[in-house]
Amino acid sequence: MTRPYAEVIGDPIAHSKSPLIHNFWLDALGIQADYRAVHVPPEGLADYFAQARSDPAWRGCNITIPHKQTALEFVEDRGGVRESIGAINLAFRDGNALVGTNTDAGGFYAPIAGLDLTGKPIIVVGAGGAARAVLFALSKLDVGPVTILNRNVLKGAALLAGFGLKGKALALTAPLPAAALLVNASALGMEHHPPLDLDLSPLPEDAVVYDCVYAPLETGLLKAATARELDTVDGLDMLIGQAGLAFEILFGAEPPRDRDEELRGLLTA
Ligand code: NAP
Repeated sequence: MTRPYAEVIGDPIAHSKSPLIHNFWLDALGIQADYRAVHVPPEGLADYFAQARSDPAWRGCNITIPHKQTALEFVEDRGGVRESIGAINLAFRDGNALVGTNTDAGGFYAPIAGLDLTGKPIIVVGAGGAARAVLFALSKLDVGPVTILNRNVLKGAALLAGFGLKGKALALTAPLPAAALLVNASALGMEHHPPLDLDLSPLPEDAVVYDCVYAPLETGLLKAATARELDTVDGLDMLIGQAGLAFEILFGAEPPRDRDEELRGLLTA
């Protein structure tokens, strides 16, 4: 029998850390399967899914930029992801069906599951795909007002309304309100992007600062939060979290999360 496999598809794809994460867990659990990165340009997406569907060894694929929205056309959307987050990061085989889902929201939430955010004000920077996953997760919690800071303020306001969250959208230059949690879900601070310069002084001492960006891992935002002795969560926690949920679906086994420190070492080497 052909060895089962899963993939991550995107354009570009060489930078993806997903193969390292999934193969680390496959090796750790002794599962005889492979996980690899495949370069799929936009014009190749339909052919990719047609071929994958016809190969019984193919378990599914993670989906990254620029396919997270267009891939919805090729899958069954059983969880209503199109209407909520509006993007999928995983397609998997279920019998003869190809099902799409999004594990970014769960991956974002896992590292802060222990925080009581009930009624607490939150700040989210960004209004793209990652922000949508973050806002979806927040909309499932009974959080207080959400302030979105974004270059395109109208886009931020539309997202708040779309997710049924109370709050307001402001420009990136607006002073921060006090908040229990600040999440950077924008590309600011990422390699080859401008930094995210925020004055964190309005945040209370027990605020948590969470950066979804993982390249670099220690962003300027996290450095500034650490200088203020605030608790921080970095983008690798979310990356490993979303991969863990995908791994369970793709390979039917729980990943060995007790080995996260070793995995983080490999990812940052
Ligand atoms: P995206 O959909 O392209 O959205 C990018 C966001 O950043 C938009 O809100 C955009 O503002 C803003 N932005 C980009 N360039 C900007 C600039 N020069 N000035 C001001 N704002 C700018 O990207 P995404 O998929 O949401 O990804 C955002 C970040 O999250 C990336 O660093 C990505 O690697 C990270 N991410 C991490 C994980 C994880 O597991 N840790 C998962 C997903 C994404 P406008 O709305 O005004 O265009």
